[in-house]
Amino acid sequence: MKRNLGLALSTAAIGSLLGTAAMAEDARLYVFSSGALTLGKGILQNLAPTDPPIQIPVGFYVIKHPKGNVLFDTGNNDRIISDPGYWGNAFQALKPVNTPEVAIDTQLRKIGLTPDDIKYVVVSHLHLDHGGNVGKFPNSTLIVQKDEIQNAFWPQPGTGGPYMIGDVMPLRAPNGNYPNAVKMVQLDGDYDIFGDGTMVVKRWVAHTPGSQMMTVKLKNSGTIILTGDNVYFRENVEKNIPPNIVLAYKPDGYYSAYEWIRHVMATQKAEYFTAHDPDAFKALKKPPEYYD
Ligand SMILES: [Zn+2]
Repeated sequence: MKRNLGLALSTAAIGSLLGTAAMAEDARLYVFSSGALTLGKGILQNLAPTDPPIQIPVGFYVIKHPKGNVLFDTGNNDRIISDPGYWGNAFQALKPVNTPEVAIDTQLRKIGLTPDDIKYVVVSHLHLDHGGNVGKFPNSTLIVQKDEIQNAFWPQPGTGGPYMIGDVMPLRAPNGNYPNAVKMVQLDGDYDIFGDGTMVVKRWVAHTPGSQMMTVKLKNSGTIILTGDNVYFRENVEKNIPPNIVLAYKPDGYYSAYEWIRHVMATQKAEYFTAHDPDAFKALKKPPEYYD
């Protein structure tokens, strides 16, 4: 009897192992841009020229996974398509591409999804070009560091500029016993989304008080690290170049992030995708193509 039970358990264990492997095989990563921004490279990169301005992508990513689809970052708020005044002075300064086809629901449709098909929304941070559309996913679960959501609503001195209060207001319940209007996982650390190691959110305080990165394990492509703005350009990691200090909440956090990315790449098949590197972004596969 005991032996049979042991056998049954080990069969179940093998089954779940096989199941885990099959899930990793099935995950697909899609690369998108929420329009583009125009700015001097020196605004982002230490000692880089600010003239002539460059145009940078505003990357966001979708991972299709058998247990549910995951969105990493949400781009610029689509409201600027019809209401450019929503960004105030930032609209003039950053000249975002705001044509109708950059809207996040229009882009998700390219891979057969609607906002309601997204189970989890992970935000690298809540600046206007990453958390812009968090309000468009009322039926998804938001995964965010507690420090970040607090800073988006009530920024520490000197950190408030890139947050748009209107972006995060839909997350707040108008009244009642609970402060949040949507399902939310508020973290103070890392989080393995499906418990199978396919997608792991990494708390990494650098760019903002609650920045997070995410690893995505894919069968053929290996591990892809989605960096958010802890890395702007590939050369930051390759040459250990710090960002402009103006947008660096915790400067040593960047160096440890660069070092960790280099370590992961040296010890396993791995790559990193940033949000704003124009050349690197151009070279990535775009929908309907994907990484698997
Ligand atoms: Zn950004």
